[in-house]
Amino acid sequence: MRIVLLFLFLFLWQSISAQQLRIGVLRRYSVQKILFAYDKGSYSIYGDSIHFGSILPNEFVEISFNSSGNLNLKKGATSLGEFKKVFLIQNNHNSSIALNTKSPVLKLRKYKDDFEITATAENLRIVNLVDMDNYLAGVVESEGGGKKELAYYEVQAIMSRTYARKYKSKHLEEGFELCDDVHCQAYHSMMRFTPKIDTAVQATSGVIMVDKAGKYADAYFHANCGGQSCLPEYVWNNSVPYLSTFKDTFCIYTKQATWTKKIPKGEWRNFLVSEYNYPVDDAVFGPQIYEFNQKDRLAFYVSPALGIPLRDIRMKFRLKSTYFSCHSEGDFVVINGRGFGHGVGLCQEGAMKMAKYNYTYEQIILFYFPGIYFENINSDVFFNQAAVDLSEF
Ligand SMILES: [Zn+2]
Ligand SMILES: [Zn+2]
Repeated sequence: MRIVLLFLFLFLWQSISAQQLRIGVLRRYSVQKILFAYDKGSYSIYGDSIHFGSILPNEFVEISFNSSGNLNLKKGATSLGEFKKVFLIQNNHNSSIALNTKSPVLKLRKYKDDFEITATAENLRIVNLVDMDNYLAGVVESEGGGKKELAYYEVQAIMSRTYARKYKSKHLEEGFELCDDVHCQAYHSMMRFTPKIDTAVQATSGVIMVDKAGKYADAYFHANCGGQSCLPEYVWNNSVPYLSTFKDTFCIYTKQATWTKKIPKGEWRNFLVSEYNYPVDDAVFGPQIYEFNQKDRLAFYVSPALGIPLRDIRMKFRLKSTYFSCHSEGDFVVINGRGFGHGVGLCQEGAMKMAKYNYTYEQIILFYFPGIYFENINSDVFFNQAAVDLSEF
């Protein structure tokens, strides 16, 4: 028993020293039963503090929730008993394990590092105890997909690392730090398909984005800014010192750069009149109800004096962005828009183009977050490279 406890202590000590994150897996599915199967390396099985050997090739363990709020643990068809907590701990670095969810039935996922399973009041609480960089590789793959340039993956890795550090206490009350869906950051398995992502995570290991005072930055991003970034105060009412508005020519020839939408005039007019008391009888503003020209990004429709935020119109009519102009055509208002998303922070399509043109991750991030600083949490180095000279574009 003493040896088992010593082992457990060593494993726990190892986990803490490697700065593992606690990621809540599949929390929105109310999982009742799972199987862990051999994938690579080897894993030790613990039911509370009892060691039940390792999972060998062709073996699996089954963990299910029972009505008394405990876990039933089986190895193959053999019951090992009822426990409060089950641990699967890798015996050597770089092992991975397959997670097969039986109730409900979900697609097989593979994970690196360790697992802790406990019970909540009604289902299993599955926590992947994972090294930061293994987690980040999974996030970048789950969120970004394949076929991107290395510098773009480096940018994504830094932004995701910053997010993970900043929001580590988001789910503490539920017994883990971050969840695995878009509520935090999508993390659907270990990185499996794009070796370049691993390279990007390693190359930027420890690098995060901070503000001038050294506080974690918010790494906002969107699909396409339409050619000009948006001030955060237009979207959320408060300014952010490391963000500003500027022209972005990297994203303007891409797929999502422009869009058009037609809306029946009656709907448009009703919304503006009923919600904002639009002065239809006013000699100046009345005729402009369907006519609006937005050359540079603005916060309000027609005039700030009318107090109609563009973000409200975007939400009401499900527009791709607030960066639009409109005019009247028969029974419709025709909206010609630019970009996709809120327009604050990193423009993904622009950043991808910059990476194609061989800009570095520092240059890309500093272009979209002009007041940002980098810090390496592994070495405590604080740095801020000179801003990019874009005069050639
Ligand atoms: Zn979450
Ligand atoms: Zn852009």
